[in-house]
Amino acid sequence: MSTTPVSDRPVPRPGVLAIEAYVPGKAQAGGVAKVYKLSANENPLGPSPKAREAFHAADALELYPDGSSTRLRDAIAAAYGLDPARLVCGTGSDELITLIAAAYAGPGDEVIYSQYGFLVYRIATLAAGATPVVVPERNLTADVDALLAAVNEKTRIVFLANPNNPTGTYLPFDEVRRLQRGLPPHVLLVLDAAYAEYVRRNDYESGIELVATTRNVAMLRTFSKIHGLAALRVGWLYGPAEVVDAVNRIRGAFNVNAAAIAAATAAIGDTAHVEAAVAHNDTWLAWLTAELTALGLTVTPSVGNFVLVHFPDVDGKRAPDADAFLSARGLILRRMDAYGLPGALRLTVGTEEANRLLVAVLAEFLGKSSAKDHGHGA
Ligand code: PLP
Repeated sequence: MSTTPVSDRPVPRPGVLAIEAYVPGKAQAGGVAKVYKLSANENPLGPSPKAREAFHAADALELYPDGSSTRLRDAIAAAYGLDPARLVCGTGSDELITLIAAAYAGPGDEVIYSQYGFLVYRIATLAAGATPVVVPERNLTADVDALLAAVNEKTRIVFLANPNNPTGTYLPFDEVRRLQRGLPPHVLLVLDAAYAEYVRRNDYESGIELVATTRNVAMLRTFSKIHGLAALRVGWLYGPAEVVDAVNRIRGAFNVNAAAIAAATAAIGDTAHVEAAVAHNDTWLAWLTAELTALGLTVTPSVGNFVLVHFPDVDGKRAPDADAFLSARGLILRRMDAYGLPGALRLTVGTEEANRLLVAVLAEFLGKSSAKDHGHGA
């Protein structure tokens, strides 16, 4: 049987070539002895020693991992008081974002996220063949009224990072609940709480409460940030049984590897390490915010382990100038052009050494004396 060719070569489905591939934070700076990577919101304390030990012990390399990540789901369930049957683990929460988009949206469907929302939502939406709907923010913060106004019968998913990366801003629980209540029942609200553990606000809730009390909310978490296991790629979803079932049907059968399962299981049990990471962040997030503000820079108040820093629109002092100046001294931050914020750089809270160096170098860049010169600090 002969078939008339529809094109002279294989062509990706609509949407795929509209994707601008995700560009990870840089890890290198040429010609400097020591590099401080502050571009990917990694944990400056690293993982729990128990997680590292479990990783090294997981050396039965010839065996397939447990395709259901049972030990890990049980450990997460025990830590948070959840039903393990309502959890799915993924190769990072990135994979879970992609799987949710693939399971719930396709050509003709719309997926909503906010203006400065995490870029992977756009990639996952386009990869699924669905249409991204980008909703403006107010004060670099998701706007519930605007999100609800964008919903129509074609809407399938609303992705909300809370707190959001790269802005560091968050919506209080009342606002998230108002968003959920305003959605029609067929729309899945995905609360991406990658930075939940860092938040020190009593009006914040990661999503567990809403998942438990509604039928159209799923929450995503990650081991890449507070647990310091970004290299192993582990995330998890807590959601309604139907969402868990849908994601389980389309995920890879062995999507989380054995070393990742072992290390993440150990990490979730090491609450002292998590507390140390939170305490470190509390101290240095406040210090960096104060010091950078004192240098005359505008810092968006953040509840995560990173801050968005806005540079002046002055020749020689713009964000790309600062980026070049810092890189030449081994300090790698994240350019924000891809998010439509070319005047800002995003900076991860680092080690004490990295944080102090950063402020001193920025003071030099701006032609000001830094707090270091005045002999005070955290
Ligand atoms: N969601 C948000 C808001 C993030 O900032 C990130 C990573 O930076 C992720 C998800 C992805 O995390 P993972 O490493 O679990 O894929």
